[in-house]
Amino acid sequence: MLRLEGATVRFAGRAALDGVGLEVAEHEIVCVLGPSGSGKSTLLRTVAGLQPLDSGRVFLDGRDLDGTPAHRRGVGLMFQDHQLFPQRDVGGNVAFGLRMRGAARREQEVKVRELLDLVGLPGAARRAVASLSGGEQQRVALARALAPRPRLLMLDEPLGQLDRSLRERLVVELRGLFGRLGTTVLAVTHDQGEAFALADRVVVMRDGRIAQSGSPLEVWQRPADEFVARFLGFDN
Ligand code: ATP
Ligand code: MG
Repeated sequence: MLRLEGATVRFAGRAALDGVGLEVAEHEIVCVLGPSGSGKSTLLRTVAGLQPLDSGRVFLDGRDLDGTPAHRRGVGLMFQDHQLFPQRDVGGNVAFGLRMRGAARREQEVKVRELLDLVGLPGAARRAVASLSGGEQQRVALARALAPRPRLLMLDEPLGQLDRSLRERLVVELRGLFGRLGTTVLAVTHDQGEAFALADRVVVMRDGRIAQSGSPLEVWQRPADEFVARFLGFDN
């Protein structure tokens, strides 16, 4: 459903994305791994329409997205740094995408409650965003990204600030949820365990390029090169 061809983004002459070609099939869950600065967030921002390409193309369902503004792309993005609306309470944040779509108040309330239960924050709808811990804010951002049920959901370090037990529980629940909703997912994570538990396919990035793309088992058993092997921690 998603295809990138030769996607290139330069900042001050240096390529953050360097001719990336990537296809994501409908219903597939793809996790992007790679060192800091390898272009993972840039990749997601490009697909979301928040970062213009210097060259190359992005297609969604065969349609070239060039010129389609972010809010018309039908994709959801959860930012690495959450960017919640501080002046709205938790429920107002989660309901944001539903309100934009003109959902009735009652429907918004039901969905907000379901999503807050899912991310482990039951009853938090009326709380002020500033009163939440970093990990709690991250869960609110996740609920907000899930609310409009985008066909393509992109998550940038969605569980990064959560402790291991919560992360492990959420990974299992999210996999089930994505399966039920038929959501296609492109997610960035630092956590290999999370990538291998969540993903149908793992993509490893290096310096704006794709170093390897394959099933978790393939990447684990047959790293494409020394960089991937070392990145996965096979050198020790
Ligand atoms: P991290 O794991 O630290 O989040 P990342 O893989 O997401 O890293 P990106 O944020 O995609 O990395 O950045 C890739 C490269 O592009 C980095 O060298 C970064 O400094 C640079 N870069 C990203 N955004 C900008 C920008 N708006 N202006 C200038 N340089 C940028
Ligand atoms: Mg990033």
